[in-house]
Amino acid sequence: MKQSSIFARQLLKWFDVHGRKNLPWQQDRSAYRVWLSEVMLQQTQVATVIPYFERFVKHFPTVWDLASATTDEVMRHWAGLGYYARARNLHACARQVCQQYVGEFPDSVELLQQLPGIGRSTAGAIVAQAFHRRAVILDGNVKRVLARYRAISGWPGKVAVQRSLWALADSFTPTERVADYTQAIMDLGATVCRRSRPLCDQCPLRTDCYAAARGVVEHFPEKKQRSSLPVRETCVLMCYQAEKPQHIMLEKRPPTGIWGGLWSLPQCEPVQVPEDVIASKYGYQVRAIEEAEPVMHSFTHFHMRIRPLRIQLSGAASTVAESSVSWCNAVKANAYGMPSPIQALVSQFFETLD
Ligand code: SF4
Repeated sequence: MKQSSIFARQLLKWFDVHGRKNLPWQQDRSAYRVWLSEVMLQQTQVATVIPYFERFVKHFPTVWDLASATTDEVMRHWAGLGYYARARNLHACARQVCQQYVGEFPDSVELLQQLPGIGRSTAGAIVAQAFHRRAVILDGNVKRVLARYRAISGWPGKVAVQRSLWALADSFTPTERVADYTQAIMDLGATVCRRSRPLCDQCPLRTDCYAAARGVVEHFPEKKQRSSLPVRETCVLMCYQAEKPQHIMLEKRPPTGIWGGLWSLPQCEPVQVPEDVIASKYGYQVRAIEEAEPVMHSFTHFHMRIRPLRIQLSGAASTVAESSVSWCNAVKANAYGMPSPIQALVSQFFETLD
């Protein structure tokens, strides 16, 4: 038997006993549900995704529901999952599927890849899992399994290494039971061939795994060489009015960029004078400012040190507030889609009112 057939057979045998078969997107499997789960699972673990997925499909049961939702509604249901460009692409993709394909996802990798936010691996997963046709996937879990199994050198983000991994993934993908196979290799990466402390003793591929045989599992896949991430600093302005201390000012972020389209606290640069920013942008005078403990938040390319400034305003705005500003109270706070560190600061603000 060919090595590639042995690989798939061993993996499927393991999947029949140990694979995950009760994930919410494996029930009532449709292209819409598979697509949603695949996008949510990018850079996010299964346990985190499950409650988001369940809430999301309850609120948007079909691609039509998602396409006709407002951006605010979509961002609100995504808030906390991070990597918000995914949510914007998700919304744009739903609209395109409805307009261009009358609500039916195309069943080819090539056509799926032309939709917003769908890359080659996500397209492969949709075709294999929703349409049960042979298609190849190569997400982070699969890259790790294959890089170790064949001891592939080089950082998987490099084009040449990616090419080798895709070729390997293609050669191992069977023609039958493709939906189970794709789930099996993702499950093996997530539960056995884990990033740290892989469970090689429990692995169905152990007998032929190069990295395990040579005792060099931790060297694969190679990490990207990079210097430590820079730290940026920002001040968030937790503005409230002395007369209405149970309300805090929120501001909608521009549609693109960091936290694009989400509600957040007004921000200013550490070099700016908060009183001037508040007066010029929002038309209020400042009565008192108190600085709270800073919090750290990490993005892919930098860390952000967030300095919360609790600011008591005096009187009413002298100019008309911008339409992107809203006053939020503790009851309504959950109705705003906010990034998680901002949500935590806003909750802390309301807790101190008790
Ligand atoms: S033997 Fe270990 S390193 Fe090799 S594929 Fe299995 S879990 Fe991964």
